[in-house]
Amino acid sequence: MKILVPVKRVVDYNVKVRVKADQSGVELANVKMSINPFDEIAIEEAVRLKEAGTATEVVAVSCGVAQCQETLRTAMAIGADRGILVQSDAELQPLAVAKLLKALVEKEAPQLVVLGKQAIDDDSNQTGQMLAALLGWPQATFASKVEVGAGSVKVTREIDGGLETLELPLPAVVTTDLRLNEPRYATLPNIMKAKKKPLETVEPGGLGVDVSPRLTTLKVVEPAGRSAGVLVADVAQLVDKLKNEAKVI
Ligand code: AMP
Repeated sequence: MKILVPVKRVVDYNVKVRVKADQSGVELANVKMSINPFDEIAIEEAVRLKEAGTATEVVAVSCGVAQCQETLRTAMAIGADRGILVQSDAELQPLAVAKLLKALVEKEAPQLVVLGKQAIDDDSNQTGQMLAALLGWPQATFASKVEVGAGSVKVTREIDGGLETLELPLPAVVTTDLRLNEPRYATLPNIMKAKKKPLETVEPGGLGVDVSPRLTTLKVVEPAGRSAGVLVADVAQLVDKLKNEAKVI
């Protein structure tokens, strides 16, 4: 079974994101970029399935600028067998990425596509769902457990009321939640080995996909600062404030 894992290059989760002075977006110059944390979990899960003998090949895909090669090398250091870069300097919105992934799925014929549930830069939580819809494949989002059987995959998902278990016929799309696994650290020997693994570059035009944006960003602003809290003397004063000032009870 071949598994395709899309990995996005995003601003590292430790970086304090700053809005550009002209409010057109966030500052990306000289900012540390990393693999999207949910995609790292997706790669880890696919590699574990390969180590268990369930999967035969793990292919990582990244869509974006040339530097996404680094993201693919990270995925390969964790254990992906090869990488595909869909290189484009254009802003790639979830629908465009889903169309690119659909074209690659048609070329590569994987049985399973494992994506992150969301990219931590745009927080869209759309690409996996759009890909499943475009392919007409079943999908299970927010996976906290994935068990592959003969011709199907059982996915446990985190929902408001607890856990839900779904069984999907393969091929299918799965998106990962935080508790699915804890990704391994890439060891130095594996980082070195990853440099030699195959990395193919294609362009959106070569896949027959128009990636023009459908949405326009009007402006990006910092969230409003939180105002300071107040100390209350006792419960009676707290209840009074909640009732008469905040008017929430
Ligand atoms: P989003 O819908 O933007 O929140 O992204 C959800 C998931 O789609 C991510 O966790 C990735 O697995 C995948 N994805 C989104 N954008 C890209 C991209 N440019 N390249 C590769 N994978 C992507």
